[in-house]
Amino acid sequence: MRLDRRGLIKTAGSLAIFTGLTSRPVFGRSLAGYPFTLGVASGDPHPDGFVLWTRLAPNPLERGSGMPMQAVPVQWQVAEDEHFTRIVHSGEEMARPELGHSVHAEVGGLRPARRYWYRFLAGGEASPVGTVRSAPAAAAAVDQLRIGVAGCQNYEAGYFTAYRHLSEEPDLDAVFHYGDYIYEHVAGRVCPKGEGGERTCFRSHVGDEIYSLDDYRRRYAQYKMDPDLQAAHAAAAFLSTWDDHEVDNNWVDTWDEQGTPPEMFLLRRYAAMQAWYENMPVRRAQFPAHGGLRMHRRLDYGRLLRIHLLDTRQHRTDQRCGLQNTTHCRPAEDTAPSQMLGAEQEAWLTDGMSADFGWNLLAQQVMMMPFLYPESRADGRHNFDSWSGYSDARARVLEAIGERGLTNVVVATGDVHKHHAGVVPMNEDDLDGPAAATEYVATSISSGGDGSDVPKGWGNVLSDNPHTRLLNDRRGYQVFTIGKDEWRTDVVGVDRVTTPGGAKTKIATLVTVPQKPGVHPA
Ligand code: FE
Ligand code: CA
Repeated sequence: MRLDRRGLIKTAGSLAIFTGLTSRPVFGRSLAGYPFTLGVASGDPHPDGFVLWTRLAPNPLERGSGMPMQAVPVQWQVAEDEHFTRIVHSGEEMARPELGHSVHAEVGGLRPARRYWYRFLAGGEASPVGTVRSAPAAAAAVDQLRIGVAGCQNYEAGYFTAYRHLSEEPDLDAVFHYGDYIYEHVAGRVCPKGEGGERTCFRSHVGDEIYSLDDYRRRYAQYKMDPDLQAAHAAAAFLSTWDDHEVDNNWVDTWDEQGTPPEMFLLRRYAAMQAWYENMPVRRAQFPAHGGLRMHRRLDYGRLLRIHLLDTRQHRTDQRCGLQNTTHCRPAEDTAPSQMLGAEQEAWLTDGMSADFGWNLLAQQVMMMPFLYPESRADGRHNFDSWSGYSDARARVLEAIGERGLTNVVVATGDVHKHHAGVVPMNEDDLDGPAAATEYVATSISSGGDGSDVPKGWGNVLSDNPHTRLLNDRRGYQVFTIGKDEWRTDVVGVDRVTTPGGAKTKIATLVTVPQKPGVHPA
């Protein structure tokens, strides 16, 4: 037993409990090293608890992460204070080789709207400590919520400095992760070019493009070793979703961008989905199954906020032809209705949007508002991987918002590695006409590299898109401060990511009111 090392975190007060839990043999062999190298996480808060996550990995990049191929017991503790003097709940889960020795403890029986601290114990070691807030009680009036938005964290494109700053944001209730938690490509693809054109990788993926379950596990392990990402997880519950790079660039439904036969792509997709489940702090309702994984779900925060977490990849119809590098696509002659969410999820969403909540947040991945990029302005071509490639599906959702008379719908989006804010017009041909919802698009954590405030050649973007109010190409994140009368969005950037230690800059603070979609300066 290694009770004398890292295990004995700062506080002497925890010693008695800690020793009590680990003074029996937990399994036959001792672990190859400290098992909590990938940190801890919490997710999907309910009024009575949340999910606590960790994954044992003494040697994270080795096959099996250096774990014995057997089930290993892991204890968890939840306390009302960071020193664990008031432990209010504890339990044990098995970390099984079938799930990459990940642990998902679904903790209940706690009090609503309270901050808690948690940790895991295994193999005579203690994990780092994380903190998490339970959701408010079902019908509670809630004064204020603080929700961060982050995603698109290409490890090779830069340091996760923005996560360090996000982890220091006060009083977060949750962080919505819009996807691209990992990128699937071979090592060395995204490396800055030097003066002479040679590429230098300052952070490089391990290995080739990922296909197998072990590949995906190792890629997640490499990302999760990042201390800034670990700090963000330890600071707040994540509401985890995926976009494309958790599987393959621009995949939808049973199709990847290379046009691989669907029955083969589905094997890869299943490995990717299993690895996603193993590595995300999600509930048992998201357990992977061969037919696919139910990612879309709903989280309520009292009467103030209903969050609809959407899956805009798995149930889509194929992209319209015209998207770069995509060999399989939907020809223009195909006039059948298009699907962005699939019929079942679309009905679930439109049924669930409700005026009983102060706000409805559609937390999803790709831009819902039409958006004209400088490069496509001449021919008026929109991004066919976004909702603009699925106009009729978008129109159905907006119509449902209109039918219910909802003016309190906010859409949170990622994907484009830029900050934008604007409204989703009821009619895509009338950009500054009546609007159905407000949309905040959060930039990437690292994808795209250092960036700049306004990219070269993007000077006309705001006038070409009169329904938008913000454009910024820095890396960073957003924080929503949500109250009954006002939704405030802090747009945060970092000045660089290709070297560590980038400074945080406040790019803008924008405000939306529940009576009418719109984005206003604070
Ligand atoms: Fe991305
Ligand atoms: Ca993406």
